[in-house]
Amino acid sequence: MSGARPVRAPRGTELSTRGWQQEAALRMLQNNLDPEVAEHPDKLVVYGGTGKAARDWRSFDAMVRTLQTLKQDETMLVQSGRPVGVMQTHEWAPRVLIANSNLVGDWANWEEFRRLEALGLTMYGQMTAGSWIYIGTQGILQGTYETFAAVAAKKFGGTLAGTITLTAGLGGMGGAQPLAVTMNDGVALCIDCDPRAIERRIEHRYLDVKADSLDHALQLAVEARDARRPLSIGVLGNAAELVPQLLAMNAPIDIVTDQTSAHDPLAYLPLGVSFDDMATYAAENPADFTTRARESMAKHVEAMVGFQDAGAEVFDYGNSIRGEAQLAGYDRAFAFPGFVPAYIRPLFCEGKGPFRWAALSGDPKDIAATDRAILDLFPENESLARWIKMAGERVHFQGLPARICWLGYGERDRAGERFNDMVASGELSAPVVIGRDHLDCGSVASPYRETEAMLDGSDAIADWPLLNAMVNVASGASWVSLHHGGGVGMGRSIHAGQVTVADGTALAGEKIRRVLTNDPGMGVIRHVDAGYDIAESVAAERDVRIPMREQ
Ligand code: NAD
Repeated sequence: MSGARPVRAPRGTELSTRGWQQEAALRMLQNNLDPEVAEHPDKLVVYGGTGKAARDWRSFDAMVRTLQTLKQDETMLVQSGRPVGVMQTHEWAPRVLIANSNLVGDWANWEEFRRLEALGLTMYGQMTAGSWIYIGTQGILQGTYETFAAVAAKKFGGTLAGTITLTAGLGGMGGAQPLAVTMNDGVALCIDCDPRAIERRIEHRYLDVKADSLDHALQLAVEARDARRPLSIGVLGNAAELVPQLLAMNAPIDIVTDQTSAHDPLAYLPLGVSFDDMATYAAENPADFTTRARESMAKHVEAMVGFQDAGAEVFDYGNSIRGEAQLAGYDRAFAFPGFVPAYIRPLFCEGKGPFRWAALSGDPKDIAATDRAILDLFPENESLARWIKMAGERVHFQGLPARICWLGYGERDRAGERFNDMVASGELSAPVVIGRDHLDCGSVASPYRETEAMLDGSDAIADWPLLNAMVNVASGASWVSLHHGGGVGMGRSIHAGQVTVADGTALAGEKIRRVLTNDPGMGVIRHVDAGYDIAESVAAERDVRIPMREQ
């Protein structure tokens, strides 16, 4: 077979491979491309602009075929979405090793990347798209919920009730924003230029309503705010036009952020271009499109800064829109901070990050059982309990049932081992895969996002994600990936991912214990090294060995 077709991961316990690790990799690759999960499955695009799971359909078929025959002591090597070799390794080794979108420093820009992509030599792997652990919009939901909760705690007395948040981008990740805001009891006004993105979020219950116009959206927002009623409103349009318009109208906005695909100037709709013409224009005249997209982003960011000047809480939500606006010549682009230094870094110091798992059975009851296990394991963590309960009630599964929750060093391994025991005892009807976003505490170098404004100035040091990938390989992860350019675009990030399968065997338990200790351990040591006190105390309390702290 070759060419686009609907893909869906099999469910249940019948294997089409030689073991659960291979089966898990196969099902998660297929799950990433499930039309319920992927934003543009026909183009192999999972999320985040053009983040892909496989380079082309031939490569996809070759990976499926290879995984179906791969032995327990073999490892498939994937180079930017294409399987390039199978090597004999050993049973502790990962079954798949993935390197996506990596380019040598001086060549690490979109122009060169596009040239190589057009030659069929590479693909954009984003973060969890090319590493097969994307779980739909839920994947970002808890982080987004926690971020808005931190905004509420910092500025609004612990709740977003009675406030209006303005944002744009209702795509795979950005679509989590409206639900995260309403989960914090606030009102969200969300702009997107793609009518399908708005409809999809309403269908999946992430977004409540669609307004007919900007005035209508604002009227609905103000009414809900005055009644302290949570509500999310989608409005169709170009953010570069509507955000400045709202500023000019003196709209009573309390919080402003953005999650359009600004990291890739070919995925941000320029002013004056209709959405229907966007793809053709980007394909036919990428240089012109890029210039206009950047100029439009400058207008968008200028309006965000205007809202900040007027007293709103404004932050960059990890899409590099400030960097793009600066490239267009807007000199106040960095007037507002990124969300990591503003709200998330203390969590990273504790090794906390977006831990996630998916039930290979396909049975939502397995996720309900793991939810109960999490509540049982961490009874003292009230915000975690609130999240797990809300997620159980409000999160619509996309593809294989899955769950995300932020856990730290000393917690992830306990959860993983419990899940493995539950598979062994039959409490879960099939194995689960345990992974995480690359946006984690010790797995990314990204000076506009995860490592922005590090205490010691080490923002651009990229040794850490490389060490992270290597330690996960050495610890027994089932697949490990090393990517460039995810989240914020080419030249701006290097990051690693791991996925480990809980198949109920004693060996899996041993691997899980090591991987889920060492992986978040990288977050602790990275932040100790940068001089963060919280990380120092976590390392001391939880016995993380740091040679330079030993006499
Ligand atoms: P996506 O491509 O699925 O969605 C982007 C959306 O932006 C699309 O619906 C598109 O129609 C819309 N859009 C583009 N230009 C627009 C414009 N001018 N006006 C209004 N809407 C416009 O991308 P995604 O997966 O949702 O990711 C969004 C961004 O967030 C990316 O840059 C991604 O790298 C970044 N990201 C952030 C985090 C985080 O934790 N904050 C995590 C992952 C990704």
